[in-house]
This record gives sequence, C-alpha cells and structure tokens, in this order.
Amino acid sequence: MNDVPEVVRAFSPHIVITDTGTPFELKVEEKGDELDFYIEDGDTEAYFNINKDEFEAKDTEDYKRKAKAWVKQQLYIYCNRLTGTDLPYGCLTGVRPTAVYYRSIGSYSNIKAHLINDYFVDEKRASLIEKVVETQNGYVKKDPRRADIYVNIPVCPSRCSYCSFISAEYPRVKKLIPQYVEAVVAELKKIKRTMVVKGYYPGAVYIGGGTPTSLDAESLDRITAELNFGVEYTVEGGRPDTMTKEKLKILKDNGVTRVSVNPQTFHDETLLKIGRRHTVSDFYDAYSIAKSYGFQINIDLIAGLPGETPADFEWSLVRAYELRPENLTVHSLSLKRGSALKDNYNRVMDGTVKKMCDFAIDTLLSVGYLPYYMYRQKNIADGLENVGYTLPGYVNRYNVDYMEETTTVLSAGAGAVTKYVFPEEGRIERTANAKGIEEYIRRAFAEDEGK
Ligand code: SF4
Repeated sequence: MNDVPEVVRAFSPHIVITDTGTPFELKVEEKGDELDFYIEDGDTEAYFNINKDEFEAKDTEDYKRKAKAWVKQQLYIYCNRLTGTDLPYGCLTGVRPTAVYYRSIGSYSNIKAHLINDYFVDEKRASLIEKVVETQNGYVKKDPRRADIYVNIPVCPSRCSYCSFISAEYPRVKKLIPQYVEAVVAELKKIKRTMVVKGYYPGAVYIGGGTPTSLDAESLDRITAELNFGVEYTVEGGRPDTMTKEKLKILKDNGVTRVSVNPQTFHDETLLKIGRRHTVSDFYDAYSIAKSYGFQINIDLIAGLPGETPADFEWSLVRAYELRPENLTVHSLSLKRGSALKDNYNRVMDGTVKKMCDFAIDTLLSVGYLPYYMYRQKNIADGLENVGYTLPGYVNRYNVDYMEETTTVLSAGAGAVTKYVFPEEGRIERTANAKGIEEYIRRAFAEDEGK
C-alpha cells in the first residue's frame, strides 16, 4: 500500500492532499478466490471486485504485482471520474515509465496497447515510452563487471528558485572547498582500489551536482585528473557563468568528453526571475567555448518556468535545437519542499506544460532527435516527464545505466549514493554518503584519523 496512494497524489491539486494523507480511506481484502477493493471519501463510496484467477498469475510475486496493478487501475478510474481529469501517464506511478515496458516483454505482444488499455497512458506517452526503449536497445546491458563512477559536487554559484537539490552556494562554502576536494580525491582513490579488487572495469564517468564547474580551476583539475580512463566522461557544467576557457581546457586535458551547458530558458527575464544570475548571451558564450574544445554537449531546458507561455517555451526549444547539441534534455517543472518557489507557486496542472512538452516531443522527433531516457518526479507539472533526447549515435550511456539500474555505480562526494547491481540475482544494494559538505568532510577526516 505504499505505492497505491501515489495514484491519488498524481491528481493533486484536483484532489487536495494534506500532510495527514489522502482524503480517501482505501481497503483491500482477500476473500477466498476474490479480491475486494473499497474506497470511501466521506460522501461517496465505491466497491470493486475481481476473481483472482483472472490475473493468470505465474507465481506469488506475479500475483502481488498484478493485484497491485489492478487496485491502482480501479483507484485511477475512481479519481478520474471524480475530477474529470485524464493524466498523461494514467495510473502509472513511479520514476521510470520504461520499467513496465521492459517487464512486459514476453508477456504482451503489443506493449504499447497494454500501456494504453491497462494503465490508461495516453497515446503520445505510450509511443514515447516505446521510442525510448527502441533507442536504448543495445545500451541496456546487464554486465556485472562494469562499474560507472559518479562524483557529486553539491555547490552552485547561487540558488535557483525552483531547486530542491541539496546544493550550497559557493560563497558560503568557499573556505571548505580545499578540504572537500581532498576528501573526494581520497575517496576516488579508494574507489579505484575497490575496482581492482572486485574486478570491475570503468564504464562511464559522470561528475554532477550542483554545478561542478563552480569549483576553482585547480580543484576541478585535481578531481577530473583522477578519472581519466578513456571512457565516456561527462561533467555537468550546468551554469554557463561558471564555464571559463581555463576550466574547459582542464576538462579537455583530463579526458572529459561531454559537458552540459544549461540555459533552462532563452529568456533573460525568466532567468532573472528564477535566480540564475546569468544571461542568454552568457549561455551562447559558454556553448561556443565548449564547442571549440570538441565536447559533445547537452542542453537542459525546463518547461513551465514562472511566467512563461507555450510560445516562450517554443522559442527556447527552437533556439536550443538550432545549435544541434548532441543531447537536449527537456524537464517539466517539478516543485518540491526545499525550493523557494514552492511557497508561492503551486503545482501547474492546467495543461500549459503539457502543451509545451507535446511540442517538444513532436518537434524534436521531426528534426532528427531520438528520446533516449526518461524519468518522472513527484509534483511534476501536468503529471508529465523529463526526457533526454539525442542525435543518433550520441546516447549518454551513464544516463541509461543509471535510469535502467543495470550497472553498478560507485560514487564519491557528499550526498552521493553507491549502487551495487547484481543482475543475476536481480538485487541492488545501496549505500549513501553523508549529505552535507561539512559532515562529509568531518567523516572523511575522522576515518583517516581512525586508521
Ligand atoms: S544549478 Fe541546478 S543544482 Fe544548482 S541551484 Fe540551480 S537547479 Fe539547483
């Protein structure tokens, strides 16, 4: 019953969710061969019933999964009637819409139809999921010896108003950076030893955050030099105002192959509003420096930024794809606790962001981009998705590995999560580092003293 109430949450704010929970009482009961499901919301109640044989379950696990899917379907039908609202992903909750697709291979001859008929996913999203799976074909490989490496640099030049990541403003933590870099480098050396001992080979490297290029050139050099394995190597520059020639040269010299330069929008007025402290012109400057060093580039855009209309977003999208970056990621605005915008900007559920994302899907596909990974978040505008698009042949393998959970990821830095994937056993083990920079440093140096 953890996942089931997510169906109700997906209808927020059409259905008001309070801190104490959903406005419904849900009850699921097994009675002999039957499964009964009641909903009561004070005024009305509904009752659904099914004979368990109809699930045609192969085993107990399969039964559990199918019973849960059935309960979610009934709940979706109920909420859909109550609110008159169709959600783009129907009763499909969870971060990875492709997971259901992969799970259905071998059981359904037409998986797209299964998504539409059994999960109420709309036609456009069902096609999108199918296309993502198609693009990922050949990249989703379960190799127990492959390990990606992730480094978290939770520092940014200023805080964007929509951000809910744990990321500190650079001026506030500047004096801690030398110790942080020291601790990260030590952890990376440890990771490299682990790789030798456990027999992993390096798959892909990703330095994210935050804004890793907020670091000074010397710090960036020390960290990136540790990871020059000659494989796909991405650094999320993110904020164009941090990407100087000097830093990009260091990245190039240390084997980095890809960078993100993220405008989020091509409207200066919006950039000011969301606290990014850079201009569209700064973005173009950073983009052309990155291009001059031969990096493959990702551009991030956000649909649904405050005050933007579909026409504003369309303008940004066209400006972005005209540059022909190898990757272009379109996020739908998602506001969580911890973001400054959350207080005076409710979740958008009026169809505006859907118009933007529909335009993005149609346009990017028509100009030669392929959707290659996707994920969803809680409170995402119009119940949509974030999609990474790629020019053919430029899939960022780390993103696929991470999203599809097929590859071990060894991680360093504050808040980083190491994930050991055991494909043969269908098992994943996770361990998380301390979240804040101060605590991460404290523990790293305490460990050293304990040796
Ligand atoms: S650049 Fe990214 S991580 Fe940093 S504050 Fe903005 S949204 Fe958050």
